[in-house]
Amino acid sequence: MPNIEVILGDITKQAVDAIVNAANCSLLGGGGVDGAIHRAAGPELLAECRTLHGCETGKAKITKGYRLPAKYVIHTPGPVWQSGGYGEEALLRSCYRSCLELASQNGCETVDFPSISTGVYHFPLEKASRIAVGTIAAYLAEHPEIRRVRMVCFDARTKAHYDRALAELA
Ligand code: ADP
Repeated sequence: MPNIEVILGDITKQAVDAIVNAANCSLLGGGGVDGAIHRAAGPELLAECRTLHGCETGKAKITKGYRLPAKYVIHTPGPVWQSGGYGEEALLRSCYRSCLELASQNGCETVDFPSISTGVYHFPLEKASRIAVGTIAAYLAEHPEIRRVRMVCFDARTKAHYDRALAELA
């Protein structure tokens, strides 16, 4: 079994090597988990993000964690769900994979993800949870340098979907 866990919690409180931010393409902060991460990390995070000149959907960029307990923040803009006909699934897969590649390149052994795109970007949770755990499991199978990945879910409904997707993998 791949080393993937699903927990209920607040990603800004996790003392791991890297947390992932479900960002937008500006990388200059927003609502939801993005706002929470910027509030908890402090203004130095926004200052570093300004130097990055944004990020394309499906790609990722890394910063330090500043006042967060996490060492790094990996920022990835997820796709906005339109109808499924605009490459949304491939873009979401690319988000998870790009974040894990950056984690490997920066020596991160423990990585926590929020449920990318399933908040204001409205990606259907059932599809998103399967894409997330499938992509993470495939990556971990080839990259033992990452010891553990967790999905940090903010509500019970989200956690139930990720628990089910993980159970389906087994
Ligand atoms: P997106 O724009 O990618 O949809 P959102 O921030 O709107 O991003 O939502 C993504 C997920 O993050 C949702 O499930 C939301 O409930 C969750 N979320 C919000 N705040 C936190 C937090 N502090 N820790 C973990 N997850 C969070």
